[in-house]
Formats: sequence, structure tokens, C-alpha cells
Amino acid sequence: MNDTSNEEQLLEFLYACPVGLIECDLVGEIALMNPHAMQHLLPLAGPRDAGNLFAAFEQHAPELRSLAAAYEPATGKVCDGHRIFVDLGRGRRTQAPTVLACTIVKLGADRLMVTLSDISQQVVQEERLRQADTWFSTLLDGVNEYAALTIDPNGRIASVNSCFTRQTGHDCASVIGRNLAELLDTDSAGGDLRLDEQIEIADRDGWHLQEGWQSRADGERYWCQRLVVARSDGDSPVPTGFSVVLRDVPRREAAAEDMRRLLTCDHLTGASNRRHFSDVMGREQAHWRELRQSLSLIVLDLDHFKRVNDTYGHPVGDVLLCRVAEACAALLPPRGIFARLGGEEFGALLPRYDRKQALDLAERMREAIAGLRVETPLGIMQATASLGCATFDEAGGSIDALIKLADERLYAAKRAGRNQVYRPQAFAA
Ligand code: GH3
Ligand code: MG
Ligand code: MG
Repeated sequence: MNDTSNEEQLLEFLYACPVGLIECDLVGEIALMNPHAMQHLLPLAGPRDAGNLFAAFEQHAPELRSLAAAYEPATGKVCDGHRIFVDLGRGRRTQAPTVLACTIVKLGADRLMVTLSDISQQVVQEERLRQADTWFSTLLDGVNEYAALTIDPNGRIASVNSCFTRQTGHDCASVIGRNLAELLDTDSAGGDLRLDEQIEIADRDGWHLQEGWQSRADGERYWCQRLVVARSDGDSPVPTGFSVVLRDVPRREAAAEDMRRLLTCDHLTGASNRRHFSDVMGREQAHWRELRQSLSLIVLDLDHFKRVNDTYGHPVGDVLLCRVAEACAALLPPRGIFARLGGEEFGALLPRYDRKQALDLAERMREAIAGLRVETPLGIMQATASLGCATFDEAGGSIDALIKLADERLYAAKRAGRNQVYRPQAFAA
């Protein structure tokens, strides 16, 4: 009776818990998952197996599998608040991408407890703080001129400083009472928020900052940082108007660039991530169908990498992964992309490269890896890799067949003694 009610209480807790909870074994087979976890996991899993944690995360966080596999202690935290950036293609301009924090605790020989929580809002706040920091420190520098003006809640200009005229070409006196958004023509296509959308956010959060295109009096477009701050008179909580500060800056899309990197790059090595790699493969497959230009794939896997971890420790293994990515990416031709496909396995997709060119490049990558020297407390460490190449023509234009073929050749190179590129007979030197 007592057991039953305990169990019921536990189930009730799991059900109501506002955090995703998952229990699974070391290879990710899920034994138990609460509804909140399901909400996060099912859309991510797509066609993959949602009954396996690592399979479900294969696209967005392939590193979880290796983190869990590499964790040696009998119990303890495998990762703590590991951030997973998820772009489910919602694409709304005012909506930031979803960010999940994942904590994995090893509870026993074959038991993991995983929590998932949505920290998107926190990440947005961090980004806002970072922006504010940069912004205010540049203002304090006093190097850059800035136009300052006040507007009423409807966006009509109440006052402007003289720099406004210098920056925009509009005469101070003639702009009073006019609508700022119309004057600056801020309603451009693309990702920027309109001035009225910025005002809406500043009304809610106190302020909003963004960069975007706007126009000068003579019609010239310029890239501008625009800060909107809510003003209230006395104790009134309702804004009575807004201050707007405008800075004419060379076009920098730093924030967008940061986000792009987060979504497309592997967190450790900075190489492309698996998901971005498969997006690009899909695009290149379409080009291949239209143009029938050659397209090749190289896959490479470091040799005896477990020994590297065992001998020098996991952090040194991580450094090696970064060096390998750096060395190989430096050899890429234009439009080539280099990605981390999993633990210590990488891939290079090479548009316009035929089989011979791919084999040559693979050989240069092999040499570059064998030539790496990583300093460690135990002395210099070296590494080697085995590589396999395949072309889209050989694979009949199928991405799956392409990967399978290159993988088979990679393993043939392993069997043949490692530290080599597998060469099909016809191409043996
Ligand atoms: P082989 O030559 O047959 O490829 O031998 P191997 O030791 O490289 O074998 P395997 O591919 O099975 O081992 C991969 C190892 O890579 C297992 C795992 O501990 C380690 N690993 C996976 N991801 C990471 C990572 O992010 N950092 C570090 N340091 N090690 C990782
Ligand atoms: Mg290996
Ligand atoms: Mg491997």
C-alpha cells in the first residue's frame, strides 16, 4: 500500500515536473521519460528513434553520445547544463532559437538520469546584457558621435540634437512632430525589427538595441545601431515617451554571425557540425543533379584515439581534435566544407572534385595530421588518421550510398594498417 502510494507520488511528480526528466542506459535506450522531456525530444528526433536519447539528439548534439561513452567514473556528472542550440525552423523574427540545457548524471553502471530544460530566455538575456555592455562602453569612449532624440509613444519626434542633422541630413527644426520610422525608412525587408517593434519591446523590457539599414535625407542607405529606451516621468510605470540613440557604423553583423556559428559549428573544434554538413550535402546533391559536376566526400577517423585519451587524458584528446580540424580545414578548396561528424571522425565535402583530386587531398590531410606535434606534460604527442573517399557518381547520387561507400573504404584503410588513404585498385599509385 505504502509502496503503491510512493510510486504514485513519484509518477505524479514526474508528470508535473516542469523540467524534462529522462532515465536511460549508457547507450541511451530510454526506460522512462516525463511529458516535459517528450515535448523537447520528439520534435528533435524527427524520423530517428525517439526511444533512444542519443539517436534523438544525433542531429543537434551528437557529442552527447561520446561525452557519455567517455565518462569513466562509476557515478557522477557527465555534463552539467550543456547547451544545445535547436533551430526548428520556426523562423519568426521576434523569436529567438530554442536553447536546451542538458545535464546528464551517471547513477550506476548502466543508468543515466538526464534533465532537459529550456533556457532560451536566459540566453536571450545574456545576449542583451552583452550588447548593452558593448554599447555603453563605446558610448563612454566618446569616439563615435551619436544622434540622440526623443519621441512620443506613437513614434513622433519631440526633440533632436545637432548630430542628428549631420548623420541623417534632415534639418532639426523641420523634423519635429514627424514620424521617425517614416523619416528613416526603417521598414526594410529582412531580419531587422521595425522601429515600432523595437518600441514595443522597449515598452515591455525598458530598452532595445539592434543594428539595421535606414535612410538619410538624400536616400542613401546606411547601417545604423539604434537604441530605444523607455522614459517615464516621475513615478508613472507607463512610458511617456522614448529616447532613441543612433550610431552610424560600418556594417557589422556580429550578433547574426555569432548565432550562425552556434547553429552550424561543432562546439569543440569549430569545424562545421554534422547537421550543417548534411544540409550542405543536400544542397550539393541538388547541384550535382542539375549540373553533373563531380562531387566527392572524404571521411577520416583518427587512429587509436582511445589510446590518446587513455595515455594523455581527455583534455589533450580535445586539443588534438581541434588541431586536426584546423589543419584539415586549411587545406580545403573554395566551397569545400569540413565537419566533425562524431567523436573523432571528420568529413570533407568537395564540390567539383573528382576521385583523383579527392584522393590527393585526402593524402595531404593524412600528411598534415601525421605532421602535427602536440605538446603535453608527458612529452610530444603525434597522431595518425585513416581515410576513405567516394564520389557522388560512384554512389549513384545517393547521399546514404556516398557515406556508406566512403565509410567502407575508411575501414578498409584501418584494416590495411591505418595511417593511410584507401585507394581503390584502379587508382593505386
Ligand atoms: P581506431 O583506430 O580503430 O579508430 O581506434 P580508436 O581508438 O580511435 O577507436 P574508436 O573510434 O572506437 O574510439 C573513439 C574514441 O574517441 C572513444 C571516445 O572515448 C573518444 N572520444 C569521442 N569523442 C571525444 C571527444 O570529444 N573528446 C575526446 N578527448 N575523446 C573523444
Ligand atoms: Mg578512431
Ligand atoms: Mg571513431
